[in-house]
Formats: sequence, structure tokens, C-alpha cells
Amino acid sequence: MSIRNEILLKIKSVDLAKTEKPEKVSAYFGVNTFSLATMSEHLSEKTFEAFKRWMAAGEVISLEQANEIAEAMKEWAMAKGATYYTHWFQPMTGLTAEKHDSFIAITGPGTVLEKFSGSKLIQGEPDASSFPSGGIRATFEARGYTAWDPSSPAFIIETALGKTMCIPSIFISYTGEALDKKLPLLRSDEAVSKAAIDLLRLFGHTDVKKVYSTCGPEQEYFLIDRTYYNLRQDLILCGRTLVGAPSPKGQQMEDQYFGAIKERVQNYMFEVAQEAYKLGIPLMTRHNEVAPHQYEFAPIFEESNLAADHNQLLMELMRKIALRHNLVCLQHEKPFAGINGSGKHLNWSLADDKGTNLLNPGATPEDNLQFLTVLVAVLRAVYLHADLLRASVALAGNEHRLGANEAPPAIMSVFLGEQLSAILDTIEKGTKSTVSRKNVVDMGVSRLPQFNKDTTDRNRTSPFAFTGAKFEFRAVGSSQNISTPIMVVNTIIAESLDYVTDRIKAAMKKQDFNGAVMSVLSELIKETRHIRFEGNNYAEEWVKEARRRKLPNVASTVEALEALSRKENIALFEKYKVLSETELRARHHIWVETYCKLLEIEANTLKEMVNSSIVPPGYEYQSLLANNVSQLTALKRQTGFTIDPKAYADQAGHLSDVTEKIFYVRRTTGEMEKLLVKAARLDYEERAHVYFDELKPLMEHIRKHADALECVVSDDRWVLPKYREMLFIK
Ligand code: ADP
Ligand code: MG
Repeated sequence: MSIRNEILLKIKSVDLAKTEKPEKVSAYFGVNTFSLATMSEHLSEKTFEAFKRWMAAGEVISLEQANEIAEAMKEWAMAKGATYYTHWFQPMTGLTAEKHDSFIAITGPGTVLEKFSGSKLIQGEPDASSFPSGGIRATFEARGYTAWDPSSPAFIIETALGKTMCIPSIFISYTGEALDKKLPLLRSDEAVSKAAIDLLRLFGHTDVKKVYSTCGPEQEYFLIDRTYYNLRQDLILCGRTLVGAPSPKGQQMEDQYFGAIKERVQNYMFEVAQEAYKLGIPLMTRHNEVAPHQYEFAPIFEESNLAADHNQLLMELMRKIALRHNLVCLQHEKPFAGINGSGKHLNWSLADDKGTNLLNPGATPEDNLQFLTVLVAVLRAVYLHADLLRASVALAGNEHRLGANEAPPAIMSVFLGEQLSAILDTIEKGTKSTVSRKNVVDMGVSRLPQFNKDTTDRNRTSPFAFTGAKFEFRAVGSSQNISTPIMVVNTIIAESLDYVTDRIKAAMKKQDFNGAVMSVLSELIKETRHIRFEGNNYAEEWVKEARRRKLPNVASTVEALEALSRKENIALFEKYKVLSETELRARHHIWVETYCKLLEIEANTLKEMVNSSIVPPGYEYQSLLANNVSQLTALKRQTGFTIDPKAYADQAGHLSDVTEKIFYVRRTTGEMEKLLVKAARLDYEERAHVYFDELKPLMEHIRKHADALECVVSDDRWVLPKYREMLFIK
């Protein structure tokens, strides 16, 4: 029996003690966070008020106040059992990073005391030289700084033997450039806030002090038994399967989506939710997704910065807790070929400091007009900056989804739904002459429906869909840190809001306010018409139609990333102070390099699998067939045993077929090796093009023949766990 067959007998869930009455969530939500409520208990009133002013109005606190907060944080964390602290940050690797320090300080010979100061809270100094910087740092200035981000509360991470206090931080170079994903997100929130406030002023909301983006990321993922995972070097090293014949049953029965959740998986989901609640992550929804063994978690939306931190934390919890259930959580965009991949739908909106959602129609015609103005600004942003949106989701894993016969397409377009489209059409056709309040009412603006109650008007194929009071950016990959796509959305919306505000101001010189708004909207609706698409985004006709509309359709990651070096885009990020040219170019560089490295790891893993796990069972089976044929031949010769010539030819043909499959696998693997050697001489940009154009097709080719081999080789010799097992034996 092969070890694969041995382990099949051992697959089972872990034993869990039943909890008769689980604690209610409100009793422990956020217990492991240094939340505002906790702060108010631990701080003097003066410092607490100063902290709140800092958050609301940007008035920085004093060092004494920082010291008081640090002391309070330490007391709180130690009371909970924490002995270490770390600045928790999000470098360009896509993961989170932490360097733990103990609270202890030497106080005398052989004695220590727990200490933590304001300066340690505010700033840390991890050596930055081993984090990707895209050429920003020379080694002589390898110092990097982590700086406390007070807008995201400190939290405690628990392991079986201890607890660590984590301080959400940004990560910058010695010269002040962003080396992480959080700082640009924070900057983009400021940019969009400023632009939105200016627009709101025009509409008479003069008291708004801050606008922020809100975000609710829907996290898709796969779970498989850990035992299978351990036998697949491709899953371990690349997060996805590089070979594997399709299971006869995949997702064609459509019996998984929203189906009853298996008990083993439910227990996992319960534990993830419990741990998430302790960290103040407001998980809301959980369900089965379309593909077998695919699932989703969605939280209640929050301020983007917090949502981004929480999503990173949630992803870590999901991976960690899976192991406790003898499962592995796969967060790659395409772990299995031939069935759905995983995305992370990014629900996005803007809210003012009173919590009013700017993408919610209001009660008066004026408020509805404001809603439509923000909506049209979004349309314009997506239309003009589709290349940046595409670049924000460009990574090797997502390349298997975007533009690769799977949802969503690489073409950016916006879905609005029937009612809103009809309203925009009416406005577009409206006369440019003065429009009075009455006319605004006549245009239907006063009768805007409450979109968030509407669930009938849906288009699941659109990459950027209005889904009732928010937009849903569906092209984001499941493994991605959402900071980058949010940062891009915020920046392009800031630019568009500014543009619309300026246009309205100019138009107001000639007509009254409502008329000015209506005329600007009418023109912009016309100008951006091409970005609106209500049909099926997966259809071949859409690809043709999009080409006619001159909408970009970029399948390759490296080509999509070129948007980051376009002159007008550099100017855009500089203007809004989100990324300097140096920072943007560094990011471009890092992402291209990462793409190349991932593909190299995949190619080398595939090579190893071919040599160690695919060809050997092929040879064994081939030898079995060869012995068979030679025995038959000998028998015929020696004993005159008769055999139907067709049956004989069939067996010889089968042998020849298997031999050929092995040959194709090996020959193409040899070609791949040569290509890798050739490509190693190129710079990363050129290399990435070669990998997309030549390496990926070669890998597909190897896979095709390896999968064909898997389908004929006797089951007890095949060592790699099969799709039908990983996806269906739970
Ligand atoms: P849908 O059915 O369209 O997916 P849901 O109401 O289930 O809509 O919400 C999906 C996600 O969108 C949730 O994470 C939710 O918190 C988030 N969401 C809802 N409103 C907003 C908003 N104003 N801004 C950002 N995200 C939002
Ligand atoms: Mg959704």
C-alpha cells in the first residue's frame, strides 16, 4: 500500500469536548484589545481627552502623555499575563512582521523589573535590511523605524505558554519613506477626507471635520486535511497545487454554495470567531462557497485602517487555528485548477465623522443630489484610473483568476443596477439649461430608493459593483493585504472628488447650485458611459465589446504593474501625498521581483515533483505493463498460447501510451529547466515577461501530461493525494 493509501484510512477530525453553553459574545468582545473603553479606565481624564483630540483633530499628544499611555498599556497587558511586547507592522512582504522584546529592565545586580516607556511605545528600531525596500535603502542606512499607529488599538496575542502585547505600527526608512503598506493607506485616507470635505461644503455641510473610508472585506478560503497537505510539496511551498487531475465530481452539481456546513468545519469556524472576537474583530457571516471545501468569513465593516489590520489578524488566526483542527487553511487565489479560486471582495464606502454614509441616498432631493455626485465621482475615478485599480490587484496568484476564464475579468467596469442606471440616463439626457429644485425632483432625484434593502438587483460578475450603499471591488485576491487596493481606491476617488468640486464651482458662476450640479453630472455621466456595464462580465462578447470601448484588458501581472511607472500616475500619487515617486517606483520594483521569485519557486517545485513523485510511479507502472507484455509474448512463443491479436495490440498500445506520457513530462521539464537558466540572466522586468509568455505555458504543458499519467497509473502506486480526496474526504 502506498503511503497515500495508508493515510486515507487515518483522515479524521480531532476530538473536541462539547461546550454546553458557550459564553455570549458581548461578554468577551475585544477583551484582548487596549480599546477606548479600556483606555478610559486606565488613563487620567486629561490624557484620555488629549488622546481623543489627537484622533479626531490631529493634535499630537505630549511625551508625558505618551509615557502615561505606555505605562497604562503595560499595566493592562501585564495584568492579562503579557511578558513581551512588539511593534506589529506590515512590510512589503505581504505578511505581518513582529520583533518581540521583553518588558524587563535590569534594576540592579541580578534583579529586573518590568518597564515600558513612552519613547518605546512611539518608536521601535528593527533592522530593516532584511525587508524588501525596492532599492530605497542603501545598506549603510539600513535602519528602519516602526512608529506607533494610535488609530488602531494595541492587542494581545495568546499562545499556549504566554502572551505578547502587539502595537500596530507603521514602518519607515531612516529617510522617512514608507517601507510598509499601512502608511500609504493612512495617507490616502487623509487625501480622500480632504477632498470629500470640500465637496460636502458645497452641499452645505460645513461642520464636517473628517471623512474616512470604510471597508468590509469578505475573505474566501479553502480548508483541507493537514495530512494531505503534508504530502504535497506544492501546497507546502507554493500554496497551490501545481499538478493534479480534476476530480470527476467538482463543483458542477452546485451543491456546495450556502450548503449545510460540515460539523468539523463548523467547529473550526466557531474557534476562529471566538479568537477574533477577543481581538475585537467583528466577524459576522460564515458560509460555504462555490467550490468543494471552499468557505467565506465576512466581518461587519469598519474604518479602513482598522479593517485592514483586522483582516491581516484574521488571516493569521485562520491559518493558526486550522492546525489545531488538523486542517490547513489555504488562502492562495487558486489552490486547485478547474474549480473556483478565492477572492476577497472589498466592500468600500465613505463616511463622515457622524457616521453618515456618503453612498447612501438621503431624505431630501439635495441629499440625493449629493449622493449622486459622489456616485458619479466614483464612476469617473474607475473610468480614468482602471489601470491603477488593475495594478492594485496584480500578483502571481491573482493572475490565475483575473482574465483567466474565471471571475472576475481583468477588464474594469462598474455595475449600478437597473434603477440607478435609469436615473443616470435621465440626468444625462436632461437639458443643460438651468435646473430648478423642481426639475431636480422631476428627474427622480427625490425618489431615490433605499438601495441597501434591495437584494434582487445583483450582478455577481462585475469587478466593481454598486451593492446598495457601498461599492464592492471584487478583483482583490484572497491572499492580499487589502491596504494596497484601498489606498488606490481612496487616491483615485480623492482626485475625482476634487475634479467634480472644481467643475461644480465653475458651473455655479453661470447658474444656480442645483443647475450647476445637474449639468456637471450630465456631462460626466456621458463622458464615463463606457465604464458602465450591466451584463455578464464572463461572456466572450464582453471582451469584444470592451475592446470596442477601449477599456484596458490586461492579463499579465508585469504588464498591469507598468501602470505604476506611468508619468500621470506618479504625478497623481505625489499630488495627493500618498506615495512619492521613489516610494512608488520601489513598490513597482518589489512587486515585479516578487512575481519572478514566486514563479521560480513554483517551477523548481514542479521540477522536483516530476522527478520524485510523478515519474517514479510512472516507471513502476510502465515496468508492470512491460513485464506483462513480455510474459504474454514468451507464453505465446513457448506454449503456443493463443491471444486475440487486437487484445495483444491493446496491451502493447497501453504500454506505449504510458511510455509516451512519461516522455512528454520529462522532455517538457527539461525545456523548463533550460528556460530558467536562460531567464536568470535577464533583469526582473524582462524575466517576468518571459515567465508569463513562456514559463507558464510550459508548466501547464507539464501539468497536462502529468495529470494524464495520474489518470492511468494504478491507484496504489500514485503517491500524491488526489483532488477527489483532498476536496471530498473531509
Ligand atoms: P452583500 O450581500 O452585498 O455582500 P452584505 O450586507 O452582506 O452585502 O455586506 C457584505 C460586506 O459589506 C460586509 O462585510 C459588510 O460589513 C460590508 N459593508 C456594508 N456596508 C458597508 C459600508 N458602508 N462600507 C464598507 N463596507 C460595507
Ligand atoms: Mg458580497
